[in-house]
Amino acid sequence: MNILLLGAGGREHALAWKLAQSPRLERLYAAPGNPGIAEHAMLVDLDVGDHAAVVAFCTANRIALVVIGPEAPLVDGLADSLRAAGVPVFGPSKAAAQLEGSKGFTKDLCARADIPTAAYVRTTSVDEAHAALERFSLPVVIKADGLAAGKGVIIALTREEAEAAITDMFSGSFGVAGAEVVLEEFMTGEEASFFALTDGRAIVPFGSAQDHKRVGDGDTGPNTGGMGAYSPASVLTPELETQVINRIIRPTVDTMAAEGMPYSGVLYAGLMLTSEGPKLIEYNARFGDPECQVLMMRLGDDLPALLLAVAEGTLADYGPVTLSHDTALTVVMAARGYPGTPDKGGAITLPAASDGAKIFHAGTAEKDGALVANGGRVLNVTATGASVTEAKAKAYALVEAIDFPSGFCRTDIGWREVERESA
Ligand code: ATP
Repeated sequence: MNILLLGAGGREHALAWKLAQSPRLERLYAAPGNPGIAEHAMLVDLDVGDHAAVVAFCTANRIALVVIGPEAPLVDGLADSLRAAGVPVFGPSKAAAQLEGSKGFTKDLCARADIPTAAYVRTTSVDEAHAALERFSLPVVIKADGLAAGKGVIIALTREEAEAAITDMFSGSFGVAGAEVVLEEFMTGEEASFFALTDGRAIVPFGSAQDHKRVGDGDTGPNTGGMGAYSPASVLTPELETQVINRIIRPTVDTMAAEGMPYSGVLYAGLMLTSEGPKLIEYNARFGDPECQVLMMRLGDDLPALLLAVAEGTLADYGPVTLSHDTALTVVMAARGYPGTPDKGGAITLPAASDGAKIFHAGTAEKDGALVANGGRVLNVTATGASVTEAKAKAYALVEAIDFPSGFCRTDIGWREVERESA
């Protein structure tokens, strides 16, 4: 079968690497791709915003499955355009992608389906938000409703900070994402991510992970797209996973279907493990980046067959997926300056990856035959091991072997689990 993969990050390199291992694959195309993805796919020049052009490409190249990596094309309805043209696609419709595209939408759904989450108020003006603020104790969480690439969430420790965040969000600095602002109760606990594949009816658990959002060691400094992750996250015990499926994932999938917006794709639940049990922080409508990289390292199944079962609505017949019991851990190497303005163009020389380790390209480019940094997050250095401690040692040994003078990484990915393992 021919497959078209959309996206350009480390998540898509990991997907391309796994898709390419399938004996079912004839041709893998990717747009826009990156130099790592190019090792497995033919890169094509396609504007994902031009739905007619993507559909025409699929028809001309007998594409049997489109895999949409990032959230923006999903929220923009690309999956709807492809489905309307009869092209199987892995990724939710525009209506279903509101689970990621609108925090207010998801909070209302949680209220209707009795899904555990933080108390909240949706507001559409500064005055309304300031008035609603009275109902919350401190700290309080202020969120721009729409997609803001991880930058639209402020945890305000004082009323002044909260008011300033509200004013800033409504001032237009977040564009349409800030047309509405959600105020939320602050939850405490350890965070973990849980992934489930669903075709709108059947649900297949796809493992857990824990990411590291802050740029600096010890979870300090500004938020980023993610500086590293490991999977599985043992803090999400089998008992807690069952609770997450029964109290969060199942009611979400059933309510979306009952309300005429069946969700098809991967449902990524960001969770807070509170003293009252797991509560939903947010949903994402796609694989996490870099969580996808660690999940793909553990996946034993044929990825095209699995994603096609989701796309074609036959997941009930598929059965459970095989994820290795090993841990996978990924360290993000970023360009100096990230998450502010990253230095682009820094030279990179990669060693050959050893057994059980893999370097995924996130923001790289080829210039005059050499590899250079071309974005904030540049490489995802990923390894597997019998424990987080072992996977971490392997990943950092590979980091050491990479020559990337203008790059940096956190040195403590997996620290919570390493502490647990050494206790
Ligand atoms: P991303 O793009 O990184 O997924 P986002 O912009 O969609 O993030 P959220 O995931 O909702 O935003 O929030 C980002 C982070 O803020 C969470 O990972 C969590 O650490 C913190 N956070 C969000 N909501 C709450 C809450 N109600 N209580 C405590 N912490 C919260």
